[in-house]
Amino acid sequence: HAKSSGGKGERFFTADMEAQIEARHALEADLRKAVEREEFELHYQPLYDLSQQRICGFEALVRWNHPTRGRVPPLEFIPLAEEVGLVVDIGRWVLRRACRDAVYWPEDIKVAVNVSAIQFTDSDLPGDVAAALEEAGLTAGRLEIEITESVLMENLDEALPILHVLKQRGIRIGMDDFGTGYSSLSYLRRFPFDKIKIDKSFVNGIVEDKEAFAIMRAIILLGDALGMRVTVEGVETAEQMALLRSEACDEIQGYHISPPRPAVEVPYLLSQLPEHERFKAG
Ligand code: C2E
Ligand code: MG
Ligand code: MG
Ligand code: MG
Repeated sequence: HAKSSGGKGERFFTADMEAQIEARHALEADLRKAVEREEFELHYQPLYDLSQQRICGFEALVRWNHPTRGRVPPLEFIPLAEEVGLVVDIGRWVLRRACRDAVYWPEDIKVAVNVSAIQFTDSDLPGDVAAALEEAGLTAGRLEIEITESVLMENLDEALPILHVLKQRGIRIGMDDFGTGYSSLSYLRRFPFDKIKIDKSFVNGIVEDKEAFAIMRAIILLGDALGMRVTVEGVETAEQMALLRSEACDEIQGYHISPPRPAVEVPYLLSQLPEHERFKAG
């Protein structure tokens, strides 16, 4: 970077860097304690089937309730947890919790769990998944694992055989944030995903903008042609939902249906179903 323009500027820069490093260390220390103290909680966001017009599953999204920091969003601590290896413990907890919650839901309601790259490389993921299912008494077919493209991109050789093992055991595999990586299309040929979740950035403008809609439509058709279930994330309006319903989109997720909610609210969300049916009729 630029030459230092004087002692003062450099000191400020250094102090700022130090403060950042210190803040990270503090966060890391808190994160370690959080694993021991189980300060995590899962919220669940509905996956809504457009042709059946009902909720068909929930995605588990981890929340960290820190005693003084308050609720720390996953995008603020998952990357750090990945760097320091804590994501293995967190991920194991998430899997167990999600399976134990889902066993109380109706049998046709699935649970989707996000899995980090590190869980593929630094832990026995199939073993952890099997243990979580068995402990909860949940059938494998009700669990869906979501992996982002970047996970695959970084660890293809290690991740693919593990994905095959999981798939053989009846666990469904979804590619998350589809379209955000740069070599998405080749991955679709290398692994038979059950589902792609089109990233929420592609929803922006589909109602107003022809080009945005054309891109969305093309991705949906691609997923459909390859025999995968297609989910669109980040659906926030009735207009977006109506438009997607007219396409080969199987499933939507987003604030229009519901934001992620605590586990205790799942029965309430499931009972809200008739309201969406009325929406369709009207
Ligand atoms: P993701 O798996 O793609 O999850 C969807 C994210 O979009 C969630 O953010 C959700 O709250 C948000 N979202 C849902 N509907 C809408 C909408 O209509 N509009 C907008 N703008 N956003 C919407 P969240 O809960 O903050 O999670 C962020 C990311 O953190 C997740 O993205 C996932 O990659 C990661 N994550 C969450 N929980 C876990 C976990 O248990 N393990 C791992 N490894 N990663 C997790
Ligand atoms: Mg996800
Ligand atoms: Mg996503
Ligand atoms: Mg389809």
